[in-house]
Amino acid sequence: MHVCVLGGGVVGVTTAYYLAREGWRVTVIEQHPQLGLETSFANGGQLSYSYVAPLAGPSVPGNLPQWLLSRTAPLRFQPGLSLAQWGWCAAFLFNCTTARSRRTTIELLQLGAYSRDVMHDLMQVEQLDFAFRPSGKLVVYRNRHDFDGARRQTEFQARFGAQHTALDAASCIDTEPALDSLRHKLAGGIYTASEETGDCYLFTRELARVAAEKYGVEFVCGTSVRGLRREGNEIVAAHTSQGEIAADAYVVALGNDSAALVRPLGIRLPIYPLKGYSLTMPVGEHHVAPQVSVTDLHHKVVYARLGQHLRVAGMVDMTPAGSREDEARIRLLTSQAQATMPNGGDFSSVRAWTGFRPATPDSKPLLGATPLANLWLNTGQGSLGFTLAGASAALVTDAIRGRAGKLDLRPYQLANRSAVRELAAVAHSSPS
Ligand SMILES: Cc1cc2nc3c(=O)[nH]c(=O)nc-3n(C[C@H](O)[C@H](O)[C@H](O)COP(=O)(O)OP(=O)(O)OC[C@H]3O[C@@H](n4cnc5c(N)ncnc54)[C@H](O)[C@@H]3O)c2cc1C
Repeated sequence: MHVCVLGGGVVGVTTAYYLAREGWRVTVIEQHPQLGLETSFANGGQLSYSYVAPLAGPSVPGNLPQWLLSRTAPLRFQPGLSLAQWGWCAAFLFNCTTARSRRTTIELLQLGAYSRDVMHDLMQVEQLDFAFRPSGKLVVYRNRHDFDGARRQTEFQARFGAQHTALDAASCIDTEPALDSLRHKLAGGIYTASEETGDCYLFTRELARVAAEKYGVEFVCGTSVRGLRREGNEIVAAHTSQGEIAADAYVVALGNDSAALVRPLGIRLPIYPLKGYSLTMPVGEHHVAPQVSVTDLHHKVVYARLGQHLRVAGMVDMTPAGSREDEARIRLLTSQAQATMPNGGDFSSVRAWTGFRPATPDSKPLLGATPLANLWLNTGQGSLGFTLAGASAALVTDAIRGRAGKLDLRPYQLANRSAVRELAAVAHSSPS
């Protein structure tokens, strides 16, 4: 059996690794000269298995005016003329009811918990050097209303196995002294010991190294996939910039480019790129960088210590690529980080990055079968691609092998997401 994985980000590489462990021949096709250079490059570094609540929630409709008007809101929506944007938004709003949001939270908690198991198994079996830390996570709140809401949410999540501890402001600072500048601004925080951090780019590169050395996975970089050649109900070859590559099965793991590749086959994927930003700065001996992974909920910004660097990430923007606002958003993120952790790292040497989350309207990835017999999906992980890569890869491998996985794949399959598909379908009747 020869499987061709399309895309060499964290999702594609993790999939390739698990497929190769089955004893199959695996080829990964990646357009860039190296792996992991798109969305997996400089993300927030969070392995936040218990913080998986979907973006679509009951508070969203009330917040929409602020997102439309405010330039400093953590979420920005700049409506354009693109049908893709409007179709995706309609499907997103459809998912904002309390019932749908809760059901998705439960499904993503299960996927997150399984991903933790898969990652731990992986780290036991392989030597991977990716600045991993069993850091724990502290989410801090600046107002009582948000903090009380978070406590209720943690009580709800505790029923599904997520273990959290509510802390008062002083205990937050004791847990993470890097937050000292917020001492008089915090209402409290939620600490979760089980959360972890790591460098997603290094993880991708390390896992690819192991997959090649130990299991013979072939990485064909600098080669872009231009289309899939279909005969009957099957794909017979991937048409690439270097000619055709034939295999027995194909896994689409192209992140934001997944929808465009399969659209000519009549398969509509509701994926839209949601922009975010990150900062990476060196940490010296005199800095007080966080040991615990921190989320400042007021600004929706995450902080993770990755080796000798501090990574700060945040914002969800539905604005055009290369938008003139990007620089202003990076300046805003920098000033928020400086106000929150003034001595957290060397702010004079910040490397800024912009990335696009391959997001579905219900925040669940698209995993498993397509209408074509040998074409499989592992894409649409949105804000959680690093966190969910392990479970997604293991479950898709099980599906291709034809054996039952540890979790029911149905909630994540394209075929069972009809409402999301149909509302978003309008988006894909046009290539814009
Ligand atoms: C600001 C920000 C912060 C984030 N923070 C976190 C976090 O803390 N924790 C977390 O779990 N997730 C986080 N995410 C989300 C996470 O980064 C993504 O979900 C994840 O990287 C997606 O991985 P992927 O492999 O699907 O996509 P990608 O990494 O984009 O990989 C897809 C690959 O396919 C290749 N490709 C595309 N088209 C073609 C083609 N035609 N031919 C060949 N190759 C092609 C691309 O070059 C790319 O390498 C964050 C995202 C952003 C933007």
